[in-house]
Amino acid sequence: MIRTADESFELGPTRPPSEAFSLLIRVTRNCPWNRCKFCPIYKGQKFQLRSVEEVKRDIDKAKVIRDRIMDMAQKHGGSLREAAVGVYNSPPDDSFRNVALWMYAGGKHAFLQDANTLIMKTGDLVEIIGYLKKTFPEIERITSYARSHTAARKGVDELKELRRAGLSRIHIGMESGYDPVLAFLDKGVTAADHIKAGKNVVASGISLCEYVMLGAGGKKWWREHALKTAEALNQIRPDYIRFRTLTIQPRMLLYNDVVSGEFMRSTDEKIVAEEKLLIESLDCPAQVVSDHMINLLPEVEGKLPEEKEKLLEVIERFQALPPQERDVYKLGRRLGIINRLDDITDVNLHAQVEGVMARLGEEGVSDELLFGLMERYV
Ligand code: SF4
Repeated sequence: MIRTADESFELGPTRPPSEAFSLLIRVTRNCPWNRCKFCPIYKGQKFQLRSVEEVKRDIDKAKVIRDRIMDMAQKHGGSLREAAVGVYNSPPDDSFRNVALWMYAGGKHAFLQDANTLIMKTGDLVEIIGYLKKTFPEIERITSYARSHTAARKGVDELKELRRAGLSRIHIGMESGYDPVLAFLDKGVTAADHIKAGKNVVASGISLCEYVMLGAGGKKWWREHALKTAEALNQIRPDYIRFRTLTIQPRMLLYNDVVSGEFMRSTDEKIVAEEKLLIESLDCPAQVVSDHMINLLPEVEGKLPEEKEKLLEVIERFQALPPQERDVYKLGRRLGIINRLDDITDVNLHAQVEGVMARLGEEGVSDELLFGLMERYV
């Protein structure tokens, strides 16, 4: 597939894992806040609104690519999915790859980038969403990230306008509902902002996904972090609660606090205790999701309130393992050998992890080793 100079369109650096197969349309560039200590994604990059016309041109370019993949399928007598795989495997650039992946998955979902799309004027965003839907009538779900700070100020009426235009879901990085943790991480919002924003989104009828950061309170605030986060979520009543575990790398501002001793990281065991306390304290209907490799216990997933006991049982099973077996699980999971708690009973997988442990010698399975292995996934 030969590309002409103006066929490619612009892509931002990230999207939620649940939007891996979505068409990505970059509506703004970077993050208008850009100060969170744990977030390296947009550091050094200036926030910019893109004009409606510029975004529409990108949508047109995505359509050109989509049409060319459809032509390829027709001309070569293959299926659309085969043509999409062909382009995906040797794309002229990332925008072709994105369209191919999106088409392969059925072409039903789109995600608006970057970090805080709601900051755009509501009328402009309505126009972009309308144009996207007109260009691709097959799209059934349009989602985006937003900051609570913005969603709290947007107001229910404007959010309803966006829902009517076709915005189906908003992903918000809540991280914590405990003000000292939010202030320490320089999140730029309070628990009250999170609650107001979340309630606004829920009242507008847009589906809401709140991301909670396990370990965000470190050793000092793990208990308050769990309790206050659950308290905020109980008021918001989001559709989804997604867990992410705190990771720390030298490129993050938080790294300096770790080095100086200002922030003491929670161990896996402590984070699991925090997760348990948080789930025990939840009293709202929501789908709990753990869809990221950085989470120790991916099976902590289910619908609240009916599956709350099932979620807690997973945690209790881990906690009930003898220390040596917990080490096998933790190391196996961080190495990607073990994927679920049940895997620990698999003799071959167990032996593979034990082999690695034997090579570690006296150092054993240290927290530093586990942190380092986990952070390969971000
Ligand atoms: S608001 Fe989101 S994207 Fe912006 S710095 Fe914070 S975590 Fe990163």
